[in-house]
Amino acid sequence: MKTRTRARACTGKVRHPDRATALVARARLIAGGATRLTVYRCKHCAAWHVGHYGPR
Ligand SMILES: [Zn+2]
Repeated sequence: MKTRTRARACTGKVRHPDRATALVARARLIAGGATRLTVYRCKHCAAWHVGHYGPR
């Protein structure tokens, strides 16, 4: 289904066209000291985002 709903889930997130690109971005963030990062396909915009996982 396609809607025009503005998804807060991905507002302000970087959109990557594919998984490989997202993984490169994730590796860069990890190199900068970030942890608990994962990449996932966004169900709202169909792009790939880098997100967080694990306990907050
Ligand atoms: Zn998104």
